[in-house]
Amino acid sequence: MLEYRKLEARYGGFTALRDITISVRPGERVAVFGHNGAGKTTLLRCGLGDVDDVSGTVTYNGDPIIPGSVYRNARKGIGFVPQGHNVFRDLSVAQNLRMAGLLHDQAYIDEVYRLFPVLLERRAQIAGSLSGGQQQMLAVGMALMTRPTILMLDEPTTGLAPVIVQDMFRSLIQINETTGTAIMLVEQNVAAALRIVQRAIVLKTGGVIFDGPSAELARHEDMWRWF
Ligand code: ATP
Repeated sequence: MLEYRKLEARYGGFTALRDITISVRPGERVAVFGHNGAGKTTLLRCGLGDVDDVSGTVTYNGDPIIPGSVYRNARKGIGFVPQGHNVFRDLSVAQNLRMAGLLHDQAYIDEVYRLFPVLLERRAQIAGSLSGGQQQMLAVGMALMTRPTILMLDEPTTGLAPVIVQDMFRSLIQINETTGTAIMLVEQNVAAALRIVQRAIVLKTGGVIFDGPSAELARHEDMWRWF
């Protein structure tokens, strides 16, 4: 379980998150929504220990997430897919997956190919020549090479055509259901994301204004203006 307790995060003199007490349970699918600048990316980064100036605590399965020690924290089982298509554009699909899994069992590549058959078809293709959706699938596949037990994704569907957005969401459900990996998803695509998560968290200017079942948020139309 990923647990934030009374977390505050600052950049210089600016407080980006305040009094955050939330958790993501093992195997759960959770979406984080909020307007631009609400603190969604900062929330994910704090879960990985990628923001230095914090108070309060974040723990993963009881172990503290240490601010600044991203590598050590990630080894606790946290996968992270940052915003944008984070792939090595000049390497092939297979080389990208091998790079991401250098410190892990290369046999995981087969599992990634099972989850994303299009990556198997295109394994010899240079990543920079893939479509946006395929590059994003590769970025997710690379995060999976570390065998995470929780996968954090920062706006993975931005800029993708609606049909590809649905493919990406279907893949996330499949990852979650076949591997038990928890999903913590930051999304602008609220209506579509609400259909695939069990719980939603809404941030407004650095604080939590909703934390509950996605079906409840779907009914709460007064809150939708915050996205
Ligand atoms: P978006 O949807 O635009 O990505 P967000 O909800 O993910 O927004 P964050 O990126 O977490 O929001 O930013 C929260 C606040 O912290 C914003 O006001 C942003 O300007 C500020 N901020 C983020 N990163 C930094 C940084 N490295 N230095 C200074 N301020 C930052």
